[in-house]
Amino acid sequence: MKISIFFFLALSLMISCSRVIYRNTLFEHSIKTFKVIKKGLPSRKKRTARYGNKKIINVLFLNGSKVLQKTVDEVASEWQDFGNFNFIFYTKRSLPQRIAPDIRVRFHRGRSSDSYVGRKGHRINKNLPTMNLGIIGDSYISQRETVLHEFGHALGLNHAHQHPQRSFSFNKNKLYAHCWDRFNYSKKQCNWNILKKNPIKNYLSYDEDSIMHYSFPAKVFSGWHGKHPNNSSLSLGDKLLIAKLYPGRMGEDEIRQDHQGKMNWVAKAKELGNCRVRGSVDTDGTQMYSYKSITKDDFDHRYVYSSKEAVLHGMFKEKYCHLNSHELATYQRNLKRERKQKSVYGYCRVPLLGESVSYHVGCDNPKYPYHVGSIKRDRVVVSQCYQNFEQALSVMKKSYQCRNGLAYN
Ligand SMILES: [Zn+2]
Repeated sequence: MKISIFFFLALSLMISCSRVIYRNTLFEHSIKTFKVIKKGLPSRKKRTARYGNKKIINVLFLNGSKVLQKTVDEVASEWQDFGNFNFIFYTKRSLPQRIAPDIRVRFHRGRSSDSYVGRKGHRINKNLPTMNLGIIGDSYISQRETVLHEFGHALGLNHAHQHPQRSFSFNKNKLYAHCWDRFNYSKKQCNWNILKKNPIKNYLSYDEDSIMHYSFPAKVFSGWHGKHPNNSSLSLGDKLLIAKLYPGRMGEDEIRQDHQGKMNWVAKAKELGNCRVRGSVDTDGTQMYSYKSITKDDFDHRYVYSSKEAVLHGMFKEKYCHLNSHELATYQRNLKRERKQKSVYGYCRVPLLGESVSYHVGCDNPKYPYHVGSIKRDRVVVSQCYQNFEQALSVMKKSYQCRNGLAYN
């Protein structure tokens, strides 16, 4: 029997300090075209229902900026660390005639995201997308979550919250209200995407950390159940499942080991969007934390925190941690311009990072790169080195020599 299927959506959300933001996804096709996936895991024949033994999965971008395409390429490729396949990305211009793309991606601004599950996308009109990504203008974090989730669908994965052994039950009426408020889902759409349980064969065990799991507020559950938080990375379960569907890249033990290693690393240096926590030991031996941009090195440590919780809180509030790569580049340009204006005071200035100056004060330690120097370039007014640009500025503005000119000797 022919099974025609289609699915779904991503929902992604960002938790900020005091509220939860849900970004919704909608169906673009009639609910009537949906049928239950009856195929299970992972006999060789059934794997063919996804991409089988195909080692190359060709992806065509139907539109989108280079920056956006690069983000998708980088993020989606996280799946191929565990599954034995490689994505090759093309634009319409670079696509050779002999290649029929397996996944066709269209970008939207402010719209829903969805994808056909597995090879089901092969059955639709070759001019139509098999995946819609409503990620234009979103933060990098949000883009990342959506891309991982939708490519999970494209690789054949179903929603983790539709596992038959999920650890909670919904209050139907409250869920329907939530579906309508947040996603504009009809009851049928809500049933299809959230409420309905899929056959157990489509999963390993229930995995609440899966990237394929929606987040939910506490109010939609029946009985006591806290809110289900947002998952923004591939869980151990996601990695094992994709390795089972596309075997040959990494063994189970290797994946478990690799995952544990990453978890240990995360415990040491937590990331958020463009930012990463860094630990350092203060002169008196106290453990200190700060954060810095992952993508570029020329952000100084803004503030130093005494606990990991405090630094994470600071990161959440920091705008540039949430920017996508294009916004980040603009932010950096503006920051540089702003600093250039601020850097001069009286007879002194604080040279910007990377700026060559004719005097040398020996701020070689990359953790303390800023100093205050004479604008006349032949004398150093204050030769201490500072961690922050702002610290150096404040020293400069308090300095008698900077205000009144060089009065040494
Ligand atoms: Zn989904």
